Amino acid sequence: MEIIENGYVRIKNGKIESIGPMDGLRIENASGKVEDLSGMLVMPGFVNTHTHVPMTLLRGYADDLPLHRWLTEYIFPAEVRSMTPEHVRIAARLAFVEMIKSGTTCFNDMYFFEDVIAEEAKAAGIRGVMNESLIDFPTVSFKSVEEGLARSERLIRDWEGDALIHPSVTVHAPYTCSKDTLLKAKRLADKESVLLQIHVAETRKEVEDIKARTGMPPAEYLYSIGLLDSNVIAAHCVWLNEKEAELLAKTGTSVGHCPKSNLKLASGIADTDAYMKAGITVGIGTDGAASNNTLDMVEEMRFAALLPKVVHYDPEAVNAAMALRMATIDGAKALGLGDIIGSLEVGKRADLIAVNMNASNIQPVYNEYSAVVYAMNSKNIRSSMVNGEWVMYNRQILHIDKEQTIENLKNITLKNNE
Ligand SMILES: [Zn+2]
Repeated sequence: MEIIENGYVRIKNGKIESIGPMDGLRIENASGKVEDLSGMLVMPGFVNTHTHVPMTLLRGYADDLPLHRWLTEYIFPAEVRSMTPEHVRIAARLAFVEMIKSGTTCFNDMYFFEDVIAEEAKAAGIRGVMNESLIDFPTVSFKSVEEGLARSERLIRDWEGDALIHPSVTVHAPYTCSKDTLLKAKRLADKESVLLQIHVAETRKEVEDIKARTGMPPAEYLYSIGLLDSNVIAAHCVWLNEKEAELLAKTGTSVGHCPKSNLKLASGIADTDAYMKAGITVGIGTDGAASNNTLDMVEEMRFAALLPKVVHYDPEAVNAAMALRMATIDGAKALGLGDIIGSLEVGKRADLIAVNMNASNIQPVYNEYSAVVYAMNSKNIRSSMVNGEWVMYNRQILHIDKEQTIENLKNITLKNNE
């Protein structure tokens, strides 16, 4: 959390080789390519800990509905009709343009055809944690849990050791998956030493349904079957009780907090201040564009800083520095990537953004954390680098044809009566 005035970052082979104040260092003596970022704040890129990348195709398709109806009457049927691998590919490209333009350098995805999404992320140059979403009913990419598990295993094999793509495992939620499916996913994640992602306690209805089925609320139930663990990230966690928060803390399970999606679907407000005080690592996620409706981590971080203040009627709840940690290093830790990304430190991957601190909506800067969390907007992010390579330079996306992507998207957009 140190701020270096007039600093430099030296990058070699995708990693930060050294970092510090310019002082005695003279630019003309530096070897290699030199980028002058005067007037910019160079900071870690954002880590989006929970999203469904191709749902950009369904942005605005069904709004202002409660989660259960939204999902079962609109989203699930629309996915069956619209999500072919080719559509997933185009929707992913659109998502990556939006993510990169708003400073995201790493995202944790949960969807179908993750092999296609991985290919597109690699081409765009963005870092991604990829999870094929296991669920107890036939999907667009697999017909049975066994087939889904095979897809997850193949994804892990195909991308093992890649510098940008981190394959892992997802099991959708306790309300859509049997105990057997939940445990098969956990065993696979453990066997492969990868992350396991799951939706937990998103709505009150889910809590009531799981209680009726198991006698326990969702997180307690997952604990009882051995699913909570230090390689698990639980998305949402809007409705954890105090005992469940302790169980997450005790097991090292992280939370992917999605404030805007939870507000829009009226699911509730997760008490992240209490979770963090209980010792849980909490990252921030946008969820999919169908329930947000943006993938903008700058907005998301601001909501994550503002909401706890009204939950507790306490302006000191989740201050700006804490919100920034959640959006960067804590998100990286939640994904099991805390050793390689999330902060600018020697030996870590160079995933960083450059913010124009002279923008009229930012000046004057009394405090950098305040400026970034409460005043910055995504357009202030001028350039973005992942693994030592620029993916956006001076607001130009470098590896995706944005205009062509939007044209392609128009051809596959669902009609209103579909
Ligand atoms: Zn989700």
